[in-house]
Amino acid sequence: MLKLTFLGTSAGVPTKQRNVTALAIECLNPYLSGSNQGNDKQNNPNKKSRPWLLIDCGEGTQQQLLHTKLSMRQLVAICITHVHGDHCYGLPGLLASAAMSGRREPLTLVAPKAIATLLEAITATTELHLPFALNFVAIEEVLSEQRDTNKVNIRLSDQHQLNIDITLLSHRVASHAFGITQTIQHRTLDTDKLLKQGIPASALWGKLQQGHDVITEDGQQLCAADYVNDDLSRTRVVVAGDNDTPACLTTALVDTDLLVHEATYTHEVLTKIQGKNPEFDPMHSSAQLVTDFVEKSGVNNLILTHFSARYQGFNNPNSKTPNMAHIRLDAETVFKGNLWLAADFDQYMVDGAVDSVSNQEGRQKGCQKENRVQYIGSARSY
Ligand SMILES: [Zn+2]
Ligand SMILES: [Zn+2]
Repeated sequence: MLKLTFLGTSAGVPTKQRNVTALAIECLNPYLSGSNQGNDKQNNPNKKSRPWLLIDCGEGTQQQLLHTKLSMRQLVAICITHVHGDHCYGLPGLLASAAMSGRREPLTLVAPKAIATLLEAITATTELHLPFALNFVAIEEVLSEQRDTNKVNIRLSDQHQLNIDITLLSHRVASHAFGITQTIQHRTLDTDKLLKQGIPASALWGKLQQGHDVITEDGQQLCAADYVNDDLSRTRVVVAGDNDTPACLTTALVDTDLLVHEATYTHEVLTKIQGKNPEFDPMHSSAQLVTDFVEKSGVNNLILTHFSARYQGFNNPNSKTPNMAHIRLDAETVFKGNLWLAADFDQYMVDGAVDSVSNQEGRQKGCQKENRVQYIGSARSY
């Protein structure tokens, strides 16, 4: 289960309503309740754990974070799609503030090599000292060394894992999409079956759930394999950076619950911009270009973001002033799936499929959920 919080949804420059790009993805484990949410007891014994990733870090992202409940201490990785300033100028400030607030936990940074050069220059010139390990993963190296998988693995606990795969997109500089796949293993005990067989709740149930065969007081031998199911929950979200060719994502979108993609303009505006200055193509997508592709891709849930500052926040298809209704209409001309236009602080819950492996009946693919993606409100608190 992944919870998305949009921290910035504007392209290029911020507006009064929208900051530049950043997206937080919290990795929730629904099998752990309340304060144990996502807790990894070995590494994190004493505090609430809600590990999260940050995709892109435009200027001002740390200020946006102050309006949410996200904790910098729980940030496990930052992924930067490309080197344009509206996607990375917030990174040095965010790291410096994390250092000043006493963070000691190591942090993974997945980014183009040039981001390491940027941080080295800032470290050398501004007395920046990070009191935590920064595990830098250069995208170029991942793409060249692991042609088949392109995966960065982050282990949150024995049962809870994240895989990040990287896809090269088409933009003025090398830009990338991150495929975030969360897997959670969970073992359930078939209590109905036990009760039907006259075996009431006792310490034996706990032993069976842990996979031990047991003998009841009246001498019945119970095989754990007959009473436990191993569930594997898998949720996959693909978050694309700036990109003028959505078809680059064809392979990445297989078995994906949700795509987050830029839609900088309507198609009409994109064509006008390209026509006005043939020497300079900004290499962005229109809403129509994205939905045209996604409609054929089999992905049913799409969130558009990274809107040009020319679009005002109101919704009026009849207004001459560019506004969000124009983007929505452009997208809806072809797309019949679930579509959302992101606003700053919007939150969405993404809940993937659960495969159940009953040791008696074999693997049952399924438990397909109807509404994989739900808008759950605004994260903003003042
Ligand atoms: Zn951008
Ligand atoms: Zn860009």
